Formats: sequence, structure tokens, C-alpha cells
Amino acid sequence: MIVGGIEAGGTKFVCAVGTGPGDLRAVERFPTTTPEETLSRAVAFFERQPEPVAAVGIGTFGPADVDPDSPTYGRITTTPKPGWRGADVAGAVGRALGVPVAFDTDVNAAALGEHRWGAARDLDTFVYLTIGTGIGGGGFVGGRRLHGRTHPEMGHVRVPRHPDDGFEGVCPFHGDCWEGLANGPAIEARWGQPADRLPPDHPAWPIEAHYVALGIVNLVLTVSPRRVILGGGVMNQRHLFPLIRQEVQALLGGYVDLPDSLDDLIVPPALGGRAGVLGAIALGHDASRSVGDERPGAARSSPAGQKGRTA
Ligand code: ADP
Ligand code: ZN
Repeated sequence: MIVGGIEAGGTKFVCAVGTGPGDLRAVERFPTTTPEETLSRAVAFFERQPEPVAAVGIGTFGPADVDPDSPTYGRITTTPKPGWRGADVAGAVGRALGVPVAFDTDVNAAALGEHRWGAARDLDTFVYLTIGTGIGGGGFVGGRRLHGRTHPEMGHVRVPRHPDDGFEGVCPFHGDCWEGLANGPAIEARWGQPADRLPPDHPAWPIEAHYVALGIVNLVLTVSPRRVILGGGVMNQRHLFPLIRQEVQALLGGYVDLPDSLDDLIVPPALGGRAGVLGAIALGHDASRSVGDERPGAARSSPAGQKGRTA
């Protein structure tokens, strides 16, 4: 069954149709502008496809309402992004296409993609993190995607300062929270150069590895993940992986019983840069299967998607 996926990012949207990693039939990227323009472009992409999609999955930037039982399910909530507060993302797509829509955070969608097809197959408890324009985290606990009163906001946990770091941090809400100290823009602001231009021997990287490791240690201690998948633009610096693993071992101080090598605990996404959009496709599959399925926690169509297309 062909389904649609939307990776709805704060800077760009990625739309795709297909069935999975070996079968993405069309992919389109465009910048995130106003909700009206951006969502119309997404709908037009699906309408142009030779075969209609049975459902659409959306992995979104946030904060967003991802509770299927909430009257505002499918909407962006308290974002500072101009024009997007309250935007009914799932509703607009579901109404226009007349198909069920499943809606979750970008990182929970990527986690679902990695669970179905990538580095978290058969794992009931794991974390997916992106270290990019922001820091975000999602994952599974006990075989279910991690949801609560809203959704996790792991990127904004507090971490202690690196002793050599006087940088004040870039988070508009908290200054020097984890994201404020360790996202891509923080690296650029601290060193005066974009992160992708810093050479592998630059002093930026041990500090970055230390901060990324501090956040991971908090997650290891609270969630006890079987794997931590690290995606996002900053993690294109592959030399960070061994540094981060060493720092995690050192910071845990031998307290948690971990294997000698953390090579299997802290890994890149097996789906690479496609984890987000493939995760959205996986969400779309769940939405197509769950029409009429009222099990608690099952992916459900948005109310707005119930109009039903008979074609
Ligand atoms: P987004 O988080 O917006 O979805 P990305 O995951 O690509 O997008 O993250 C973008 C951030 O990652 C930017 O701050 C950029 O500087 C940083 N980044 C992108 N590529 C690299 C790279 N090769 N090395 C280091 N940092 C990078
Ligand atoms: Zn913050």
C-alpha cells in the first residue's frame, strides 16, 4: 500500500510517497514558509502522484499536540515560529486529501522508522536523538513510542558547564540548556564559524562530545535505553562517535553495568538522513491500518481525516 510521509521541519519540509526504504517513489523538499503556503505545497505534491496515498504520516517540529484524544490533535502548539502557533497541520492535510493522518514529533517518527527498518529493529526501549539546528529526542519505552502529557523535550534538559566553556548558550528560553550549549548554532556562535567548517582537530569537538555525552548520560540513567541513535547535521562529524562513547563511559564512572565497548549502544541512524521521512512513511502505514482501530495508543487518524475518499 502506498502511503505518504511528511517530515515537517522548522526550516524545510520533506514529502515522500512509497512503501519503505527500498521503495520511495517520489521525494520533494521545499522551505517552510507560512502554514498556508507550505501545507498547500505538501498537499499538491501528493495530489500530483500517479497513485493516491492510502494515508499520510507526519513527523513534525514542535511543540505539537500529538495526543490523538485531544481536540487540538495535529496542531503545532507553543512554537515561537511566526504564523505557526496553532497551525492545524494534520487537519489541513487530512481534509484536503481525505485520508487518515498520523501525527507525531519528528524524532518519534524517526525512531519509528529506525525501529521498523533500521538500527532499532526488535528493540523495545531505545532513544533517537537529533543534534542539528536544535536538539530533540524521541524513542520507544516498553515497545511503545514515548508519549506523556505532551511529548518529551529532551533537548532542553540542563547539563553542567564544561570547565573550559564560558559560552552563554543560544536557547531563547533557557540560555545554557543542553540544546543551548550543543546544537549546531551553539557551535557556530561559540567558535565564530559554522560547525561544518571546523576541522576534526578543532578544540570545538571535545567540548561538543562532552556536552552530547552529558545529555546521553541523563537519558541512560532515566530511560535505560538498549540503544541511543544519534542523527542530525552535527553528527555528520563521524569522529564525534568515539569521543562521545568515551565520555559517556567516563561520566557514568562504572556505576551502570555497560559493555566494555559502547559501539553497539551509541550508533548513527541506519537509515541515515532518510530516517525522518521514512519514519513519516512508517507512521502513514500505521494510520492506514488503524482506521476503526480504537486500541489505546494505537496510531489513529485525525478527526479531520475522516471525510473518506472512495477513489
Ligand atoms: P535540522 O536540524 O534543521 O533538521 P540538520 O540536522 O541538518 O537540520 O542540522 C543543521 C545544523 O547542523 C546546522 O547548525 C549545521 O551547522 C549543522 N551541520 C550540518 N552539517 C554539518 C556537518 N557536516 N558538520 C557539522 N555540523 C553540521
Ligand atoms: Zn532550552
